[in-house]
Amino acid sequence: TTAATTAATSTRTHCPYCSLQCGMTLERVGRTLEVRPWPEFPVNEGALCRKGWTATGLRGHRERLTTPLVRDRVTGALRAAGWDEALDLVADRLRALQDARGRDAVAVFGGGGLTNEKAYQLGKLARVALGTSQVDYNGRWCMSSAASAANQAFGIDRGLPFPLADVERADVVVLVGSNLAETMPPAARHLDRLRERGGRVVVVDPRRTPTADRADVFVQPVPGTDLPVALGLLHLLDAAGAVDEEYVAARTTGYDAVRRSVAAWWPERVERVSGVPAAQLRELADLLAGSERVMVLTARGAEQHSQGTATVLAWIDVALALGMPGREGAGYGCLTGQGNGQGGREHGQKADQLPGYRMIDDPAAREHVARVWGVDPDSLPGAGRSAYELLDSLGTDDGARALLVLGSNIVVSAPNATHVAERLAALDLLVVADIVMSETAALADVVLPVTQWAEETGTMTNLEGRVVLREQAVAPPEGVRSDLEVMAGLAERLGSPVPFSTDPAEVFAELGRASAGGRADYSGISHERIRAEHGMFWPCPDADHPGTPRLFADRFSTPDGRARFVAVDHVGAAEQPDAAYPLHLTTGRVLAQYQSGAQTRRVRELPDDGPFVELHPLLAERIGARDGEPVVVTTRRGELKAPARVVATIRPDTVFVPFHWVGANRLTNDALDPSSRMPEFKACSCAVRA
Ligand code: SF4
Repeated sequence: TTAATTAATSTRTHCPYCSLQCGMTLERVGRTLEVRPWPEFPVNEGALCRKGWTATGLRGHRERLTTPLVRDRVTGALRAAGWDEALDLVADRLRALQDARGRDAVAVFGGGGLTNEKAYQLGKLARVALGTSQVDYNGRWCMSSAASAANQAFGIDRGLPFPLADVERADVVVLVGSNLAETMPPAARHLDRLRERGGRVVVVDPRRTPTADRADVFVQPVPGTDLPVALGLLHLLDAAGAVDEEYVAARTTGYDAVRRSVAAWWPERVERVSGVPAAQLRELADLLAGSERVMVLTARGAEQHSQGTATVLAWIDVALALGMPGREGAGYGCLTGQGNGQGGREHGQKADQLPGYRMIDDPAAREHVARVWGVDPDSLPGAGRSAYELLDSLGTDDGARALLVLGSNIVVSAPNATHVAERLAALDLLVVADIVMSETAALADVVLPVTQWAEETGTMTNLEGRVVLREQAVAPPEGVRSDLEVMAGLAERLGSPVPFSTDPAEVFAELGRASAGGRADYSGISHERIRAEHGMFWPCPDADHPGTPRLFADRFSTPDGRARFVAVDHVGAAEQPDAAYPLHLTTGRVLAQYQSGAQTRRVRELPDDGPFVELHPLLAERIGARDGEPVVVTTRRGELKAPARVVATIRPDTVFVPFHWVGANRLTNDALDPSSRMPEFKACSCAVRA
């Protein structure tokens, strides 16, 4: 062994997976890349979950794609191709389709795991190089209901408007539909420290998860009924005179309408609808009323519903009624899921938005962004379809005929996935850029092999609005290109009026200029500053600005500076149990897997032990199911056969399936929230048989 091959070099970077974006050190020892702690990074203080510790497992994986693939028209099989051949073919066919059928004949689909630079460039590729309005991303299926609610209530949407460590300073933390102890274990330390201080944790979830096991109060509603639980709490707080009238008068508008709308949500009615005992609701209202600092945190369990926005608004109403948002160690926040769930929604890959979290139908926003891009504002398309609606329209008369996918494994992660696969099959051209042959890439006409996290530099914005820098630690394998290079190559071939940079720092600087003056202002942040300061919180409007860890201390981001109460009512899940489908189905995550599993299912050290069907012993007995033996779950959209896991931690009327494997989303409902366009992943009716 030579000295050169044993020399170690360290790179400080961040985990490739979830929204915590844990800091880690990657150490290169010869040809091996090893994960080590980065104790100084404040979010995780050196801790990682097992996904993080094993994150290098995909490097050098035998299934890693290292050459473009093109589907042979004669044999129908994918064959190796050169980069020029693949990109020429894609550009020629996209142009031909647009010439024949108009700009919107081509659609672009992004992901909440893409870096800020890629998300920004993807929106620009769609609007400038392709001129299509048809662009959206899988974050629409992640936290869009919380985003919609926060924008309505606070005039801005930053998942947590405070650092995560503020959890430790609360007296009571209410987690609604969050299983953070299992999905992001390093974050659970804050709950533990809160409890050591004598604080209390409340968990609202249809399953007694590992997070619920740490709770002082566990509330177990029927799936899809988090909203009436919040309405019942508002009713009780109002009746007890526990509403912070001074705060409501000084810092909010709209409480009277909420007061009227919750008048009929007495606890016994909440119990009938949600299954939560009236006595427990009263105890919880007393606990909240008697606490100085209450923090309400929602996650996908509350948000992925056809009434997800209304549900989040109701819980924000609870926090506002108690006078919490803006107070330190208190307030409302959303725990984002995907690695760049926050940044992914700020830079223009959403159907209705431009960079800086600007709305695409705002003339001033169009003017500003067009100037940064160097194009005519009138040349920019308007708003397109939301993620599911975009997919649902593919191959139809007014839908796109070609789809370009970056950073998303649609056929596993979309609701009503069998229908989505049918829409993909109706396309003239499907192009997928990925690191491995995901289930979606396997359907593509052209597959483009791209770099993965340790092989490239880029920024991510974690669940706190902290912009962090993922540094390149190793050279990519020969034959792969970065997504930025892919987009630049396509833009050039499509005859883009302006060039597309492939340098992440340069793209980030351009993104900053495009975001200047917008709601998510990054203009004072640079790769250099992030490196020096271990991450920076937006908004950060100039190079001397320190960034903004906490929002709302003095005013909210609404025009009048006041938070808005929004009165909402409970409609219920789009599908309710009936004779044919008598049970509730809900979906979620497990510790060892991430999102559609395209990456984590291939990491050897992580157990690939799904899908499975969780059901209560009483239900198992009724249908004759036994632990470990197959059961069949059916919904109006599909069927899944998988081993039963008989557990007493779930409601007897509810069945749970994790969504990291093919199958769960063949069952889920594509009913959409009217405001966020979030599909109802978390509640539909099902039947189960042994
Ligand atoms: Fe941290 Fe999330 Fe990575 Fe686990 S998956 S190490 S919680 S960033």
